[in-house]
Amino acid sequence: MDCDKCDREAVMHAAYSGSHLCDAHFAETVERRVRSRIRDDNLLPRSATPDDPETWVIGLSGGKDSVVLTHILDETFAEDPRIEMIALTIHEGIEGYRDESVAACEELAADLDLRHEIVSYAEEFGVRMDDVVEDDPENMAACAYCGVFRRDLLSRYAEEFGADKLLTGHNLDDEAQTALMNFFEGDVAQMAKHYDASLGPFGDGPDARTEGDDFVPRAKPLRDVPEKEVALYAHLADLPAHITECPHASEAYRGEIGDLLLGLEENHPGARHSIMAGYEELAAMAAERYGDSGERETKECEECGATTTRDRCRKCSLLDALA
Ligand SMILES: [Zn+2]
Ligand SMILES: [Zn+2]
Repeated sequence: MDCDKCDREAVMHAAYSGSHLCDAHFAETVERRVRSRIRDDNLLPRSATPDDPETWVIGLSGGKDSVVLTHILDETFAEDPRIEMIALTIHEGIEGYRDESVAACEELAADLDLRHEIVSYAEEFGVRMDDVVEDDPENMAACAYCGVFRRDLLSRYAEEFGADKLLTGHNLDDEAQTALMNFFEGDVAQMAKHYDASLGPFGDGPDARTEGDDFVPRAKPLRDVPEKEVALYAHLADLPAHITECPHASEAYRGEIGDLLLGLEENHPGARHSIMAGYEELAAMAAERYGDSGERETKECEECGATTTRDRCRKCSLLDALA
């Protein structure tokens, strides 16, 4: 099969759009979708100037999503004096897995000549995920601890580096999974937390519900690109992405929803896109209903000062339980 736009051989077929594309034209469409998302979500405000640039902190895990996002942002904005980019990598203390992905992050940052910061659970919290999994004082999935710690460090360091936005590599499949999980759990208030009037749906998934720590606005410029296409882009561009899954990954429910979505998409191409279109509209309505109207009182954590609805934030309670 030939490419729709030239006479080279197609490397991909997207059932939802009916397009067949060669490697070059495929890469171009991925990049174009990321750029239009940045424009539509107004991630680069008019107020940004070379004298007062916009600072973007990019969560760089070394997996294909964040590596592709970082690569495209660099291709697009490396020469733009209105934007400063900083890659932030979090080392969770997972033997083998994280050391390799940190190496992938370092290689990419060096290739792109990008400022790169690494922070670790060991140095920040005195814990490593391998030990947390072993202890498991709260009898939870590993990802539940890890998500709390990761969000804390991402928000804290994004603020410390003066970020105007925190950009993460969530793709279309991640976002559609989160949307469906919120639907199936009947959690409309949670949808409100995934919406920002200027940025559209954001947030960090269903386990982000405990703390109101989103001081630095989140953005997800890859959220229109399906996971398979992100993987293909990383492969074709020969990017140093680390592809092994985390050995502690145990989000069973998310996996179940992911399988359901892939089945839906196969029989009804475009299902993920239409789920997200509906979700964005509902999230906006939910934000109006539940938004920052101060319905839930927030205070400062007595231990670390983070914004929380309780006396101690979730992170500090988990660290206490692990001590
Ligand atoms: Zn072509
Ligand atoms: Zn705290």
